[in-house]
Amino acid sequence: MPGLAVIGYPVGHSRSPAMQNAALEELGLAPEWGYEAVEAGPEEFEDAVRALAANGYAGLNVTVPHKEAALALADEASEAARAIGAANTLSFGAGESTGARLRVAAENTDAGGLLAALPAAPGPEARALVLGAGGAARAVVWALVESGAGVHVWNRTPSRAAAIATELGANAVAAPGQGEYELIVNTTAVGLRGENPFDHLPLAREGFGPSQVVVDMVYGERPSELLATAEGAGAQTVDGLEILVQQGALSLEIWTGREPPIDVMRAAARG
Ligand code: NAP
Repeated sequence: MPGLAVIGYPVGHSRSPAMQNAALEELGLAPEWGYEAVEAGPEEFEDAVRALAANGYAGLNVTVPHKEAALALADEASEAARAIGAANTLSFGAGESTGARLRVAAENTDAGGLLAALPAAPGPEARALVLGAGGAARAVVWALVESGAGVHVWNRTPSRAAAIATELGANAVAAPGQGEYELIVNTTAVGLRGENPFDHLPLAREGFGPSQVVVDMVYGERPSELLATAEGAGAQTVDGLEILVQQGALSLEIWTGREPPIDVMRAAARG
């Protein structure tokens, strides 16, 4: 059976199995294909990947904390994965081998997933503000810079904003003017534990407007306070679950070559 899985630590909370199994069902690929969650700590990660490949798995999604390790173990990697320095999608070469083991190809669909989730592609004149400088920010900044937008990066620890901006072709900013940006993306973990975003981020409740798109990578059961406030001011909003759906759809296409049933995946992810 061509198996698929998400591998991470922890991984029990992941919506990916429900979303991907619904898609496999819709495409008529189940029950031959299936998608599960595999928990593996950092010391077990590479052995677990090799074992799944040897057991006929077609590929994996990789989540925290293994995205850098996934890139490191791959035999080949896309430009996105190399530039971002992390991979969230591995695929195992059918019949191809490197000595005793299958070739591993690495991709990063977090970048394409962010762009696909936006209501429109950012044009070359677009000004974007990315909040955060961690793993999620790297994919977002790379994707937006590649699409031609002018990207400013703010981070609580300014030296990390400066480093990511220099590396990926953006500019660090210490005190962003909220109204200057057509697109604002929160990639920080603020909101994950119920924090008030306006206490932790350089944004004001009354600073949003109808010409803006606001994205919050954090996802939970309810719309985040950040998105609820932006929407109240007439901005278009995109939540973290939509980005999860879009990155998952791109991964599914890589493994199966089939057009992903986005609506089915979205409904399953939102449960
Ligand atoms: P990470 O590498 O640990 O980075 C965390 C970022 O959040 C850093 O920039 C950190 O700033 C900032 N931060 C944490 N607490 C803060 C606070 N109280 N005030 C201001 N900034 C704070 O994490 P990550 O992997 O990038 O993930 C970040 C978020 O994105 C998580 O909530 C994750 O669930 C979400 N995410 C969503 C998706 C999706 O598909 N929707 C994909 C990936 C990640 P410092 O540098 O100053 O510490």
